[in-house]
Amino acid sequence: MLDLTPDEVRRLRALADLIAAGTCDRVYWLGGARDASIRILKRVADWLGDACGHIDTTPDRPGPALLRSPCVRPAEHGGLHLDVNGHAWKPTGEEAGGA
Ligand SMILES: [Zn+2]
Repeated sequence: MLDLTPDEVRRLRALADLIAAGTCDRVYWLGGARDASIRILKRVADWLGDACGHIDTTPDRPGPALLRSPCVRPAEHGGLHLDVNGHAWKPTGEEAGGA
C-alpha cells in the first residue's frame, strides 16, 4: 500500500473510518467520499489484518450468510459495523455490552 508506514496507514484508516461512519445514511454529495473511505478501510483491513471482521448474522438479511462480507472497520470500533458494500448494521446486544 503505497509507501506508507504502518502508523501512517493506521492514521489514514482512522480518517477513512470517521468519514465512512459520519456519512452513514447521508449519501447525497458525500457518496463519493463515503465510497472511497470504505475502499480504504477494506484495503487497510487486508493489509494490516486487524479489522473488526464481524459478520451480519441477522436472520432478516437477504442472501446466504456465507456470502456476507465482514466488517472492515478497525477492531474495537464503536457504533455500527460496516462492510465493503456499504451495508451497516447494529452490534448485537452482547457486543454492545447490553443484554
Ligand atoms: Zn465491526
